[in-house]
Amino acid sequence: MEAGLYEIYEQMQASKELKDRKFDGYKQSYGVDLIIAGSKQYRGAPILCAKGAAYSGAGIVKLMSDESVIDRLPEILPELIGLNRLEHLSKEDFMGYQAIAIGPGLSLAASSKQLVADVLKNSTAPLVIDADALTILSEHLEYLENQDRAIVLTPHLGEYKRLCHKDTIEDPMMSIQSFAKKYHVIVVLKGPYTMVSDGVNSYRIASGNPAMAVGGMGDTLTGMITAMLGQGYEPLTAVRLAVFIHGMAGDLVARNAYTVMPEKLSENIPSAMYILN
Ligand code: AMP
Ligand code: MG
Repeated sequence: MEAGLYEIYEQMQASKELKDRKFDGYKQSYGVDLIIAGSKQYRGAPILCAKGAAYSGAGIVKLMSDESVIDRLPEILPELIGLNRLEHLSKEDFMGYQAIAIGPGLSLAASSKQLVADVLKNSTAPLVIDADALTILSEHLEYLENQDRAIVLTPHLGEYKRLCHKDTIEDPMMSIQSFAKKYHVIVVLKGPYTMVSDGVNSYRIASGNPAMAVGGMGDTLTGMITAMLGQGYEPLTAVRLAVFIHGMAGDLVARNAYTVMPEKLSENIPSAMYILN
């Protein structure tokens, strides 16, 4: 695809790409995913992120977070497995996961910087980087060198400018295409008709609506992308499908709601996937 060009990704493509659940599937068939999110200050974002993953068909979701979050999990999301946030993460801590996410509500504390460094150095599963982890990454783009796995960056425009060390982005699509190519990542530039590019193929995702412009929406999307990666889709397919379903679930809610709350969106993910299937 030539620089600047892109496809519009619509419901028909999403329908074709969403796989059936297997008759003899069991939970491990759909991925064991690790979400590293939340901190003492930010206790909502990790819940929204984990909920997005759990409702998108992930087999097992483990949430590593501050103990104040983990303590509440059995009451709010009993299907999740909680892990207390560690100071350091070694290779062993990342064994057995099909997808990993880091960022929502992580904070910019020194301990968070260490976790971002550890994840990039010691894990090998497909990885989604969002929110505070993107801010930390923007000062350490060298972490993206020599990565032998799919890495998905999910900035909104402000986070993207920080990643590029620029005040303005003239042509966002051209810009994410060249960023994706340079760093061998998939970029998801969030906004109305979110843009996705891996540097070769690029899309605008034709779902979603302005009622979704509320806090926590991106955290939910991060969980959803992680769940689709964990289900074994080819990375670019996982990303465009997750972004489409996120917007579609938001559209279902907005049929009879003026605003779309992230938790309501998550509760509509299974219906959106049912319609696509
Ligand atoms: P974040 O800023 O990280 O919470 O991410 C915002 C999420 O909400 C992204 O998935 C955006 O695509 C979505 N969003 C925000 N504003 C709009 C809008 N005006 N139309 C459609 N989607 C939006
Ligand atoms: Mg965000």
